[in-house]
This record gives sequence, C-alpha cells and structure tokens, in this order.
Amino acid sequence: MGAYLKNEQEINLSILQEKVLNSPFYKSKLKSMNFYSSIKDVPFTLKDEIRKTSKYDLLAVDKRLISHFHESSGTTGIPTTSWYTKRDLETGGKEIAVSGIKLNDNDLVLIRFPFSMFVPAFFVLHAAYQTGAGVIPASSRNTVTPYPKVLELMTELEVTVFAGIPRELELLAETARQLSINLKESFPHLRGILVAGELLSPRRKAYLEGVWGRPIYNLYGSTETGNIAKMCEYGVLHLSEENYYLEIYEESLKAEKAVGEVGVAVITTLTNQAAPLIRYVTEDLVSIHPSKCQCGSSHLEVRHYGRAKDCLTIGDKTIGLYELQEAIYSLDQVPIAWKVRETEDGMNIVMQYSEPVLLLKGVIQEHYKKNNIPGTITLSLDETLFDTSTLLNNEISRKPVYIEKRK
Ligand SMILES: [Zn+2]
Repeated sequence: MGAYLKNEQEINLSILQEKVLNSPFYKSKLKSMNFYSSIKDVPFTLKDEIRKTSKYDLLAVDKRLISHFHESSGTTGIPTTSWYTKRDLETGGKEIAVSGIKLNDNDLVLIRFPFSMFVPAFFVLHAAYQTGAGVIPASSRNTVTPYPKVLELMTELEVTVFAGIPRELELLAETARQLSINLKESFPHLRGILVAGELLSPRRKAYLEGVWGRPIYNLYGSTETGNIAKMCEYGVLHLSEENYYLEIYEESLKAEKAVGEVGVAVITTLTNQAAPLIRYVTEDLVSIHPSKCQCGSSHLEVRHYGRAKDCLTIGDKTIGLYELQEAIYSLDQVPIAWKVRETEDGMNIVMQYSEPVLLLKGVIQEHYKKNNIPGTITLSLDETLFDTSTLLNNEISRKPVYIEKRK
C-alpha cells in the first residue's frame, strides 16, 4: 500500500504549507498545517470545492507574478480554473520537451490544441521556445484554421511534429480522405505526433499510428495540475515525480489502492507556484506501475483509464471509456464517430461510417462480447452523429461526448 514514491516520507509539509497557505482557498480550508504530521492526514481537495471557490481564491502568488489564467473544458458544465506563473508554464513545457518526441531546433510544430482557455497549447509553445523548435499556431475551435487549411499548412510548411487532441487526428484523417490526400505520403517531413486532452487507450493509439504511419506520444495532466506524466520513446507514460506526488484511492476515498490497481488519482503539486494543490482528487482513473524503462527512466509508469464519472455499471460489471475504446478501435472497420447510450440492461452503441461498409451486426456484437463489454448490446448503424461534410467548411470543431448515461 501507498509507498509510490521513494521519498514519500520526505515530502516537506512545511514547504508545502508555506506555498498552499498563500492562497485564500487553502488558508480557509486548512487553517494551519502544523497539526499534520504526514501528508496522509491532510484533507482531500475536491473538484467541487475548486469549482465553488472564486477564481482568485486559488491564487497563491502576488498578482504581479501571474502569467496565465486557464480553465478546463467544463464537460460537466462548470469549469475548473487554474493560474500559472511563467515558471509553471516553463515546467509544463520542459516535460514535453524531454518526452519521447524530443523536440529540437530542426522541428516545426503545428499546434492544433486550442489557443484559448485550455493550457496544452501553451505548454507546447514553451517546449518549443526551450528547444528552439518553431511553431505554427493552427488552433482548433476557431474559423481561421479549418481542417483543409491545416492539411495544407502541414504539407507546405514541412511540419515535423503535430500536436493536438487525438480526435483531431481522426477528423484530419477523414478530411484527407475526402480530399484524396494520402496521409502516409503527403507529409514526408512529419516525424511524430504529440497528443493530450483526451483518453488514448493502447488500441486507439495503435489505430491512429496505423492511420498516420507515425509514432504518437501521449501526455497526461489537467488544467488544474499541469503535465503529470509524459510518454517516452518506448510508449511508457512516466510520472513527473519531481513535480507531482501521486496517490491512488478507491472512489469513496476511504482506502488507498495498491500498486497496479486502478483507482482515482489524487495529486499534490510539488513545484507549482501560482495555484498549488494538495491532495487534489482529479476524478481520473489511473494505475501506477514500477518502471525500469529502456529509455533510462525509473519514474513510475502511469496508466490512464478515463474519468470515473463516465463509467457505466451493467450488472456487476463496471466499464468506462477505456474498455469502450479498446473494443471500438480493435474493430476491423473503425467508425468515424461513435457514441454509447446506456440502456436498461446494457448499451446501445451508435457507429457512424463515412463510407459504405459491409457490417454484420452479429459479428460486431460478438466482437464486443469478446472484448468484455457486458450486458445487452444493441447497435445503431444508420444514425448521424456528426456531419462529415462540415469538415470541408469553415465549421468549428468540438470534442465529442462518447458516453451518454441514463437520466
Ligand atoms: Zn520510458
């Protein structure tokens, strides 16, 4: 149980105290931390607490040190907020610079992460500044850089690295198909892809690497915390142990999970200046594994399984986005859009294809069963989730909702 970090006992509570008690939020929540002899005694910080607090209450530095304010996408309706100093942004950038993508001054990075309230675009920007790489700020979610324009820029500017959410890779691939652009041949300079911001199960990663013919490096983190883990060249997501202390708890937060077991990630930021967090319950499902990686890092491996709130309970089984991605992305024909609707005794899986495909419902249902999807599975193959013709127009992209729970 517990001992995820060699220096768990060495977490300096007085230094943490000094930092977090500078924010009005923690000043009122923790009163004084002198009474805590171990970090394990400090109360958890819940997402709802952060959502309810006013934005400046999380700030732990003088306003003059503020570099950025950010908000999460607010999938649940209410966004979570965070502050960053220049050094905080540089730390997030450094994590990307030293990830498996190994940015260098020969690189030209097309940043498709939105340059807006979300933080990843700015981390990539800082990674580029640190390594001398050039950037093309081809933000998603605006009308300046629609999908065909992104493909055009990638070819014309000889882009070497693409950075964006995994869904953008799927939408760009579909745009390329509509424009008869061969992804593997049209971008001879593209050497790798950096993704973040959405779950990337191993089979989704393998599928996208197959479609694009390039290696993909994933990042795990959040607006509130920064980059918690980065993928090395061997596909292992390593915890940034110098910047984060990670604990894993069962969802009720009553008991800690053992190494290798899946639970909710509880994060303490060790170096964040602007909005430090202590024992922050991320609501993300993760597991950690000891690592003696070929890349030379002995930092723990983090495996990410999506959000606990997305999980469906069917009979005595729980499945979430991870299991669904593993099943969908190992289909012989992967749909361009899909959605799972919870039903009384299972789920209705909607799959949309952009080209006519020969699908045998029985074979697909059998595939899902084999991939441990429980309950009664019904399939909808004629429903339009997403109008693929909009990709060629100047429409703004959005992150899809993959799981729809019963009300
Ligand atoms: Zn490694």
